[in-house]
Amino acid sequence: MILGGSYVGLELAQAMRRLGSRVSVCEREERLLPREDCDIAEAIRDLLQEEGIAIITSADVSRVSGRSGDSVALHAVIGGTQNIIEGSHLLVALGKTPNTVGLGLEHAGIKLTPSGYVSVNDRLETTAPAVWAMGDCAGSPAFTHMAFDDFRIVRDNLRGGQRSTAGRQVPFCLFTEPELARVGLNEVDAERQGVDYRLTEYPVSSILRTRTTGETRGKLKALIGKDDRILGFTAFGPRAGELLPPVQIAMRTGLSYHAIEELIVAHPTYAEGLVSLFSNIKPLPLDARAG
Ligand SMILES: Cc1cc2nc3c(=O)[nH]c(=O)nc-3n(C[C@H](O)[C@H](O)[C@H](O)COP(=O)(O)OP(=O)(O)OC[C@H]3O[C@@H](n4cnc5c(N)ncnc54)[C@H](O)[C@@H]3O)c2cc1C
Repeated sequence: MILGGSYVGLELAQAMRRLGSRVSVCEREERLLPREDCDIAEAIRDLLQEEGIAIITSADVSRVSGRSGDSVALHAVIGGTQNIIEGSHLLVALGKTPNTVGLGLEHAGIKLTPSGYVSVNDRLETTAPAVWAMGDCAGSPAFTHMAFDDFRIVRDNLRGGQRSTAGRQVPFCLFTEPELARVGLNEVDAERQGVDYRLTEYPVSSILRTRTTGETRGKLKALIGKDDRILGFTAFGPRAGELLPPVQIAMRTGLSYHAIEELIVAHPTYAEGLVSLFSNIKPLPLDARAG
């Protein structure tokens, strides 16, 4: 049983299932991956269910009894009724908390945030002179590549630079098979932030390379702003993570989506899907353009 239907829980659910376990995922929200778009979350739910994983959503677990490794039970309210879900092993994947309590950081003048992260400014300086923090403990987005970028920022600032964490890109991958990769806004974010966008989508099955490999599941999506810049890109499909960097470069340098649409991309590669994705966008009428 896996408690928590988000990134870590789902990667391990698929892995455990493929290693031969019977797996149930129990999630409090109405759907898996609440931070991702509904269509993407549904596609991943379909993928996992087809592999034989039981997905239980809207399940509010209030108590766990028994012993993982022997026999364990989740006591959950599902749709207003009390249920007991039983299994042999339990994996709790409900998020992480910083492990900073009891280190005595306060004696060195290093303050913590209310949630327990080391308090840093955008140069990654702590509240104590000449003490820096980086990675998960500094509250940076919890990815290895963000911890690595924190390192580069601190390294350059120690050499007298003025590097900051402000406004940096946070790409990430969910390593199910196939992968989910994203950088920038998805529809959930754009709607929450009241950002206008045009949506473009392209099915992975139409990328000709996938006809040769048979890996036709998934879709590509991008959000385009009024100025034709790319606001965000989501890919669910084979090698999705490898498709992020060209889009990241366009986003980072402020190129319009036409820069990718007009690229000549070798055939037959997965990256050809990017050209098709960005060729699908209707131009805005002249009077609706930014500026
Ligand atoms: C299941 C799982 C899957 C993940 N998958 C991915 C992924 O696919 N891609 C990705 O980018 N990120 C992934 N992450 C996140 C990634 O692992 C972290 O963001 C990254 O490791 C952060 O690096 P860090 O150096 O800040 O911390 P850590 O890698 O946690 O390193 C901190 C180190 O400090 C040590 N330590 C802690 N306290 C003390 C102490 N008091 N004294 C001395 N040493 C101490 C710890 O033992 C540890 O070795 C995953 C995380 C989890 C839990």
